Amino acid sequence: MFEGQDILEFTDRFRDDLSCLSYLADIKWSEGYSCQKCGHEKHTIRKKNLARDCNRCHYIESPTANTLFHRVRFGIRKAFTIVFEMSATTKGISSQQIANRFSISPTTAWTFMHKVRNAMKSSETQLMEGEVHVDEFVYGGKERLKQGRSFDSKKKKIVVAVELNDNGKVKRTYFKKIEDYSAKSLVGIFEAHISKDADVLTDKWSGYKPISNEYNITQELSDFGSSMKQLHTIIHQVKSWMRSVYSWVHKEHIESYLAEFSFRINRSIYKQSIFHKLIERMVKAKPYSYQMIIVST
Ligand SMILES: [Zn+2]
Repeated sequence: MFEGQDILEFTDRFRDDLSCLSYLADIKWSEGYSCQKCGHEKHTIRKKNLARDCNRCHYIESPTANTLFHRVRFGIRKAFTIVFEMSATTKGISSQQIANRFSISPTTAWTFMHKVRNAMKSSETQLMEGEVHVDEFVYGGKERLKQGRSFDSKKKKIVVAVELNDNGKVKRTYFKKIEDYSAKSLVGIFEAHISKDADVLTDKWSGYKPISNEYNITQELSDFGSSMKQLHTIIHQVKSWMRSVYSWVHKEHIESYLAEFSFRINRSIYKQSIFHKLIERMVKAKPYSYQMIIVST
């Protein structure tokens, strides 16, 4: 397992395609090999690319097959380095920057980065517990320093939740795109990320009322954000991050960018293993093509 964020250690460890393929193979077959076609377990490893050649039916499976590294045309080493960059930097990188630094086309960079973001998406299995604050914000268009909800249809509406630790610091955060501020829309983030035992704080918005039948919600009069300071700091950070790195975030893709932001915040206490975790998720994820990125949105 590769640990840490040191770029020189990284380039030493992943000095050629074979060392990257070997890393993928170790993760992919960590529980042993069994042929995709016939289930046979005996195999021969091809020296050239570490593909497994089934001894019975001779079906050949490469370490990248059926992973998010499938058919990466610019080489596995560049792909690994892009994942490392995306996992290590707290600021995020635009696909144009990646295109320039890795000599690939902006579309290729954009597509691959979306695959990485797809792997960054929450598995929605670890619900937030304890003190959780929930609010919404809008992104895009002109900002107004006015309290209340924006009903401008051009703006992207997002609901956000933060889980606080015992010291009142942000432990984890999740976002969800919403179409409107109805209870039906707002409940999505609760179902995906919040435990029914959590102590949830929201403002007085009526949309949260029906949800309090199932969740433990306290509604407080919002005082220009001072009652939910940590949450408003997160909103401020995510907005300025998206504004600086991704000059234009398409409405359809906003959740992917928010997943990237959450992934880094939520894993910031496990910085040592962040790269490994991401590679692991990319190996276990199903292939995700350019067409699928366009269509699924
Ligand atoms: Zn076989």
